[in-house]
Amino acid sequence: MADTIFGKIARGEIEVPLLHDDDVCLAFADNAPQAPVHLLVIPREPFEDITQADAQTIARVMQVAAKLGNEKCPDGFRLVTNTGPDAGQSVQHWHVHVLGGRQLSWPPG
Ligand code: 5GP
Repeated sequence: MADTIFGKIARGEIEVPLLHDDDVCLAFADNAPQAPVHLLVIPREPFEDITQADAQTIARVMQVAAKLGNEKCPDGFRLVTNTGPDAGQSVQHWHVHVLGGRQLSWPPG
């Protein structure tokens, strides 16, 4: 699969302030935030999207995303993983958005 900006971040080739860092995944702020809290959790391994990731990695990434959401957004948060063109996935390295800090509308656009 093609290398992506998130692959470079995961390998430390591009440095960003990390909010979480372990052997499976890392978390950092989205650089075009759509809410007061907008974080991204990515696996170190460059799965193209969630359909390609293994269950253990999915579990860890979701666990970290939920923990960060709970810590940063005590009034609630949303976890989003856009998959494929209809969902508007723009980076082909699986990631989970953690969104919160304001009232989020439903349904999403
Ligand atoms: P997607 O559209 O694939 O669901 O989400 C990709 C997200 O990555 C977007 O919210 C976009 O703002 C964010 N993003 C793209 N490039 C970078 C980058 O270089 N650094 C950071 N921190 N976020 C990025």
